[in-house]
Amino acid sequence: MIQPITNALTIDFEDWYQGLEIPMSEWKGFEDRIVPVGRRLLKLFAEAGARATFFILGKVAQDHPEIVEEIAAAGHEIATHGYSHTLIYTQTPEVFREELALSIRLLEDITGHTIRGHRAPFFSVTKQSLWALDVMKDLGIEYDSSIFPVRNYRYGIEDAPRWPYRIPVQGGELDEWPITTWKLHGKSIPVAGGAYFRIFPYALTRTAFRAINAEGHPAVFYLHPWEIDPGHPRIQLPRRVATITHYFNLASTEGRLKQLLRDFRFAPMHEVLHVR
Ligand SMILES: [Zn+2]
Repeated sequence: MIQPITNALTIDFEDWYQGLEIPMSEWKGFEDRIVPVGRRLLKLFAEAGARATFFILGKVAQDHPEIVEEIAAAGHEIATHGYSHTLIYTQTPEVFREELALSIRLLEDITGHTIRGHRAPFFSVTKQSLWALDVMKDLGIEYDSSIFPVRNYRYGIEDAPRWPYRIPVQGGELDEWPITTWKLHGKSIPVAGGAYFRIFPYALTRTAFRAINAEGHPAVFYLHPWEIDPGHPRIQLPRRVATITHYFNLASTEGRLKQLLRDFRFAPMHEVLHVR
């Protein structure tokens, strides 16, 4: 009998238009749906008895503090997803620091909790932006979950470790929890969530998570609230691939998520990191 492994359940908490490579200066005018969708997600988690880490975008915390309060009150971990959802490797270290500090301050003011975890927008900690880990450490972040050990047009450090590890940074070390991949015939398959969760059949996710857990490793699962909101507005995106992946199979996601929560054990990321 294999000992059941606890995996990390994570939500990148942003509104549907904030994760589309549209600069923050152009966000005005889009319909905000994060509060009702966030509440649906909280209800779903409550019914499943699941708790998660919510990596919350600073701009969401600023505009809708009430939903951050509700997430924290439901016992989920509050962590940061930065402030403006800008690719870190396009920012200067100074701007990144300013935005990260602001997002931490907003979340700490609302919840009264210390913010320990960070996930980069678009997993944009790459070889070009490893300096961001030094800034995180300096601002009190204890763990990061942004490095995707694959190659993608927007992100990835292909040869990075696949399981949680300590990464040396200025002033000490940081826990890094890479986005989970499944090795099959020598290839790294991204099975951890998001678009991959919607594009691959659910059976593949389940097989991969089982195989990973059977090897004794916890997996990380991630999702965005808009992925359970198939009714959100459809807009044309500059990159066709982004349009396809953003809107693909949204109607099935909620059902799949419920199934995943029945099939595997989950906890917030910091709890899994510390009980490992
Ligand atoms: Zn995001």
